[in-house]
Amino acid sequence: MNKLIQTSLLLTLTVYCSTEVLKKPTSYSYDLYKEVILNGNYNSSIDHPDTFLDFKYGERVASPEQIENAINAYSKQSNKIKVINYAKSHEGRPLHALIISSPKNIAQIDLIKQNLSLLSDARKINDKEAKKIIDSLPAVAWMAYSIHGNETSGSDAALGLIYHLIASNDSEVVNLLDNMIIIVDPVMNPDGRARFAKSLEQYRGTAPNYDDQSLIHSGDWPYGRTNHYYFDLNRDWVYLTQPETQGRVSLISEWKPQILVDAHEMGAQDTFMTGPAREPINKNMDRDLVKWGNVFAKDQGSEFDRRNWRFYTGEWHEDLYPGYSFYVNFRGTLGILYEQSRMAEDGVRRPEGTIQSYKESVHHQFVSSLSNLNTLSANSKAMYNDYWEARKLNVSKESDWANQTFVILPTKNTSRINTLADKLKSQNIEIYTNKQNIIVKNVLKQTGDIVEEFNIPAGSMIIPNRQPEAPLISAILEFDAEIDEDVLKKEREATLRDGSSIMYDTTAFNFTMMYGLEALTIPEYVKGNLSLWEPSSVEIDVDEKAIMWIVDGTDDLSVTFAARLMEQDVQVRIVDKDISLSGKSLSRGSPVVIAMDNPKNSKLVQLVKNTAEDLNVSVSSLYTGFGPEELPDWGGRHFRLLNKPQIAILSHEGFSSYDVGVSWWSLDHHLGIRHSQLNTSMIGYADLRRYNTLIMPSGYRSLNQDEMSVLKDWVKQGGTLIANNGSTRMLVSDNSITSIKDVSDSFENSHDYNIKLQREFLSKNISIDLDYVNNNKISSDISYPWEETENRIDSDTLKKRDSWQSLFMPSGAFVSGRVDKKHWLSFGTIDTLPLLYSDFPVLMAGSGSKAVIRIGELTKKNNQDVYKTINWSDIPPGNDLNVRMSGLVWPEASQRIANSAYLTRERFGKGQIILFSGEPNFRGAALGTNRLWLNAIIYGSGLGTSVLIKQ
Ligand SMILES: [Zn+2]
Repeated sequence: MNKLIQTSLLLTLTVYCSTEVLKKPTSYSYDLYKEVILNGNYNSSIDHPDTFLDFKYGERVASPEQIENAINAYSKQSNKIKVINYAKSHEGRPLHALIISSPKNIAQIDLIKQNLSLLSDARKINDKEAKKIIDSLPAVAWMAYSIHGNETSGSDAALGLIYHLIASNDSEVVNLLDNMIIIVDPVMNPDGRARFAKSLEQYRGTAPNYDDQSLIHSGDWPYGRTNHYYFDLNRDWVYLTQPETQGRVSLISEWKPQILVDAHEMGAQDTFMTGPAREPINKNMDRDLVKWGNVFAKDQGSEFDRRNWRFYTGEWHEDLYPGYSFYVNFRGTLGILYEQSRMAEDGVRRPEGTIQSYKESVHHQFVSSLSNLNTLSANSKAMYNDYWEARKLNVSKESDWANQTFVILPTKNTSRINTLADKLKSQNIEIYTNKQNIIVKNVLKQTGDIVEEFNIPAGSMIIPNRQPEAPLISAILEFDAEIDEDVLKKEREATLRDGSSIMYDTTAFNFTMMYGLEALTIPEYVKGNLSLWEPSSVEIDVDEKAIMWIVDGTDDLSVTFAARLMEQDVQVRIVDKDISLSGKSLSRGSPVVIAMDNPKNSKLVQLVKNTAEDLNVSVSSLYTGFGPEELPDWGGRHFRLLNKPQIAILSHEGFSSYDVGVSWWSLDHHLGIRHSQLNTSMIGYADLRRYNTLIMPSGYRSLNQDEMSVLKDWVKQGGTLIANNGSTRMLVSDNSITSIKDVSDSFENSHDYNIKLQREFLSKNISIDLDYVNNNKISSDISYPWEETENRIDSDTLKKRDSWQSLFMPSGAFVSGRVDKKHWLSFGTIDTLPLLYSDFPVLMAGSGSKAVIRIGELTKKNNQDVYKTINWSDIPPGNDLNVRMSGLVWPEASQRIANSAYLTRERFGKGQIILFSGEPNFRGAALGTNRLWLNAIIYGSGLGTSVLIKQ
């Protein structure tokens, strides 16, 4: 992009000498806005930002490298700045936090952080000590910019702000630094910014472009918003899956700032938004912060008024989901959001004909930042006092959280529970475990049922919520976030009026459902005999004298173990039933390496050992293949040979970049094995024989007839095709590769679907009457499930109902998944698996297919003595069905999706089709459903297709 400016200057010289050059434009965008952003009295020994740019500051987008050069220079030129590298992006770019303050404060950073830490824990100090600390503490602000890489103006403002703060000789700024630590996090997503900066360069012509629809403004797939793996970093603040967030959050945990400014951009035709959120606001948030939010917004508003700049507050900005930057509000920090209308680089023409320039949008962010710093400076002590009162409440008996304890039941999925422990510890959450059982009363289960008395088994993870981070703990672990009746009313009104929603993100997000771990909430403060949680120990026992080596199949790392060994050409089997061998009990789905399967591999033992050590996963040596009685023996059919997966992901235009990104990341993060991303436009002529496993992330791209037939041939010859959400919808509506139907297309055959369902129900609940069965006389007394149901609904009514019910589909809520525990796709999952559900295709599995997971948990209901009919399906007597687990699921939606399939598997030729109704890897955090997806990819080719025997 820099070259182009030079080129345009050059053009003015050469244009008359040659006919082969480009014409110069009739005007330049830098003439649009003449205000000077940096107009203080500056120290000349510090370089002006222009030094690091090849354009005038604020007129164009500075690249991450240009900003980094400035930071490196400033750290040498000024003693008011200390640079911390808190993370490295996936593409290797450093992430910086700059601590800016007076040299005196900078020299005392450790003491200041120590005092902030004391003030955060009211169990350690009393009121008097707290007051002393507050008197001595400088204000602390965290100023963070452009987490979405294509929302560029924030980082440009940050560059100016850094310079202004360290170089200004004005007493106002010097005084500010005496009383304040300002931490500037200038480029929160350097990889996304670099991608967008590259597209600006790519699509720039000679004349400025003010059309916000053009490529220079939009960039192209996968766009600049997200990071390297297309993650939205502003949804990752509690799940902490990405290095940018992990590094940032641990530094924020150290500093506990008073405010956290998060500067974004929004639609190009908008103005500027700031101020506290509107409802729904998560109930765990300290309402004092809303009060302070208004104080900041008012001051900021008057700065805008004074300059004749338009702005608004609140409107669409809600705050129920705790994984935005606003998670800091649960920790006592006021989160402040800026949303500047997006100007890309040249500026944007508006309906009234005016053009708002890029430089003006940088100026808005700059003025907002200084305004917030001044407001904080004036109110810091009062805010610290409020903070101290809130911190006292968090650890007292009086808080709303005081009598609340979260328990995660023991699991053999060691790696998953250790991951959870890591995430909680990053937020300073204290976690414990019990060596003995603890009996508790009125326990709330994830399904919403209450158990009167419950025995918490030893080895559970226990989080009593009378601790400093109580509000955050509740926000991320409570099963259901409370939503006001008034909010529900407005939501339903919006849905009925025009199908819109007032919910900006998912309405359910708790960690344990996300992770597919069984958990409880206890309505009391469980203390008893607890010890601090320690990760379970790993035992790697790889004896070369053994005949086989095995990893327990409940642990997610067992899939990784199998995948990495297969990639190194080791033959791996999987035991598809629970087993007991050599005195060890192992879960179904345990991968096993048998020496006899690998006769020519001289490094076998070393490979097994190295793989287990790399992964830090327990492995056992087994010395006999004899399973007592009915348990599997090693030569029997339950030791099934796997087939090395050779994986491709369909990608690019037409696919959801989020689902492509998280699929790609899941392979690299969970498995680390080779795979290819294919540009889908190649599918018609690519050689698909190189792959046996093809992943179709969610998308909205239809394949044409030729492409479809290539895909069909490939599956028929033994391929495993795995599709998510939008791509599942596409395959289902194409109707030529799968027998699965969308519910709206199934009513003519609703009887058949119901019979298949009844077979599943009945097979789980068999009781035999010997006299009846062994009677030699023919019986006229046989019961048929459909004859007992009275209220079958005709297809016309079903159709009308379905189109009405489809208006109410959830936008991110947990529903119960009823898991077929005998199927290989469900290795390592719990019986009732929470499924994060949205407006997904509602899948109907007919006779040629298997519904591995259906929606709804069957529960006992004693006074129900007849069949209960829900749309097309019947619930057998004595039972009820739980659908909703957490978040907003309207009753109409529950009815519509009840008993439909979430995950299906069917044979197609020598291959198979595996369809997910949803997006199983959501945000890299849905570990419960991610496991199903990993099973599909790594085990699918071996367990679900006719494997080629090479002659
Ligand atoms: Zn944004």
